[in-house]
Amino acid sequence: MKNNHNNIYAMCNLNDIKLRDKKTQLVQLALLLLAIILIILIIIICQHIQKLQQAKKYEEQLIQYQAEQERLEQERIALEEQKRKEKLPQVTEQAKQDFETIYRSETKRAFLTFDDGPSTVTPNILDTLKQKNVKATFFMLGSNVQRLPETVKRVFDEGHFIANHGYSHVYSSIYSSPQTVLDEFNQTNDAIKTAIGEPEFNSHLFRFPGGYAGGKYAEIKKQAKELLLKNEIYQVDWNCLTGDAETSTPTPEYVMNRLQVTSSGKNSLVILMHDAQAKKVTAEMLPQIIDYLAGQGYEFKTFYDIF
Ligand SMILES: [Zn+2]
Repeated sequence: MKNNHNNIYAMCNLNDIKLRDKKTQLVQLALLLLAIILIILIIIICQHIQKLQQAKKYEEQLIQYQAEQERLEQERIALEEQKRKEKLPQVTEQAKQDFETIYRSETKRAFLTFDDGPSTVTPNILDTLKQKNVKATFFMLGSNVQRLPETVKRVFDEGHFIANHGYSHVYSSIYSSPQTVLDEFNQTNDAIKTAIGEPEFNSHLFRFPGGYAGGKYAEIKKQAKELLLKNEIYQVDWNCLTGDAETSTPTPEYVMNRLQVTSSGKNSLVILMHDAQAKKVTAEMLPQIIDYLAGQGYEFKTFYDIF
């Protein structure tokens, strides 16, 4: 009987132990699960924080990039504005001084000037100038500017100086009074502004058709010069030429000879040539004219070097 009791007691004890073990195992399992969940949670949180940090960093980089782009754009606009302004002739005190000594210089320099254009040969002249990397000055007629505005734009865009030669080139019209000279200057300047798309453009430089000195209209021209000066417009003739307007059909030899003779012994050359269909010889001879002058040690200038 006692033995039987002992057995039952032992069995109860064993069941207790088994139950306790099971409980412990369950608790351990639960703890393990909890630990795993915790670890997963920590990993997810860490990844999330990392992603947030990366997103913030990316956002900062983006803002920095955008600011840099904006700065570059501002710089580009400022540079373009500066370039645009540089192509608008200005009458400064220095310009006035330099203009007074236009026919005198310490070193050899040559201003290639083309009158009466634009014309159908202007593109040939421009091609040669580009090929030789030389800039020139074009004294344009308002009537031709209105006929060939795209050519005028090309002259301007390629960095040549556009100056003013009046509108009509008809002496009896332009020289009917000093005021008509100024009127033709303004009319031509307006045509140039439209052609190049620069409402602020003013060349401040005029060449009297037929030249300033002498002739039937000398007195009108003298008064016109004063009137132009009051309006900050300067006039310039030439001290050297190719003689392309001296005969109806000048030969290449004639042109080269006139250039050699009229440039001889001079440091500062303002060379008169013509940009006209009838003076094709000038466009054709331009490479040789440039080579000759370069060979004589002349440096090419435009009136942008003055104004
Ligand atoms: Zn002319």
